[in-house]
Amino acid sequence: MNEMPITSLTEEQLAGFAAQQGWPAFRARQIFAWLHARGATAFAEMTDLPKTMIAQLEQTCVIERLTVEREQVSRDGTVKYLLGLSDGNCIETVLMRYEYGNTVCVSTQVGCRMGCRFCASTQGGRVRNLTAGEIADEVYTAARRTGERVSHIVLMGIGEPLDNFDNVMDFLSIISSPKGVNIGMRNISLSTCGLVPMIEKLAQRHLGLTLSVSLHAPTNEMRSSMMPVNDAYPLEQLIPACRAYQRETGRRVSFEYSMVRGVNDSPQTAAKLAALIRGMGAHVNLIPINPVDGSPYSATDAANVRRFQQTLTDLGVNATVRRRLGTDISAACGQLRREAQKGGTA
Ligand code: SAH
Repeated sequence: MNEMPITSLTEEQLAGFAAQQGWPAFRARQIFAWLHARGATAFAEMTDLPKTMIAQLEQTCVIERLTVEREQVSRDGTVKYLLGLSDGNCIETVLMRYEYGNTVCVSTQVGCRMGCRFCASTQGGRVRNLTAGEIADEVYTAARRTGERVSHIVLMGIGEPLDNFDNVMDFLSIISSPKGVNIGMRNISLSTCGLVPMIEKLAQRHLGLTLSVSLHAPTNEMRSSMMPVNDAYPLEQLIPACRAYQRETGRRVSFEYSMVRGVNDSPQTAAKLAALIRGMGAHVNLIPINPVDGSPYSATDAANVRRFQQTLTDLGVNATVRRRLGTDISAACGQLRREAQKGGTA
């Protein structure tokens, strides 16, 4: 039996599948709506399809849905989910409440192979890529469990989205479809550790999403000490790729900067950062590192974060300090999954 994950098909792919079966095009649209707007978990729920079609779908396709293994609610309203996949693996999804609406932070891989030294997600390496349907179901699960609308998505959970390029592109197509949950590209941010060839490939798609680059350091020596990916794609490649992305798409990139005490948080480092990205109009998000087990790093204190921000502002670079949500529920990337693995529940 060939069980095709039908939830991972874009509208176009689903139309192609329906055509192969000899079904009229409107059947593909019905199925897409059942899967992505109405949250069907079984083909039998698709009551406006002929019984023979339902039987055929049941034989050949599978609906990928995630199970909620754990759910933690923070005092600030942030909810963190440990979600189970059909093969027994687990991932994390976080829902954050902002004034402008609910944002879901999705994982794109089980684990990660990028090796950033401050990050819990990468500690066990990469197990596998998530499918487009699994990533979409992270969003649907958070919406269903809270009973609230999700208006924004950030691809900042476990995994490197550009290391799972094709599935992530299909996910973006599915999630932004007006026939599904219709979350506009303007409300989606994709974060990358800096895979230069993939940034170039993404630029060619002209998607209108916000590209966020995890910079974390303005010199190669400092960045390579924190992020091995910098050895493959050093700053003299990464920054021009960001500038080219802006030229190509007309969209400004933003930079993530996790602040580590005594490593990347001095005023001199702020000045180097300003010099590196000056003239891009780029926004810098400063966030004190969230210390994880097995990492030598500790967080910059609030006063030094503000001093760093002030230095950037004085030098003409726009920077904000990211509000830390969910710190009481270990909401930093990959922490819950690591805890669950150690406790033997995942
Ligand atoms: N792989 C992508 C997206 C996932 S990580 C990327 O690297 O951008 C999302 C963001 O959280 C990145 O900026 C990452 O560097 C940062 N991050 C990971 N672990 C962190 C920690 N313990 N404290 C603070 N930021 C962290």
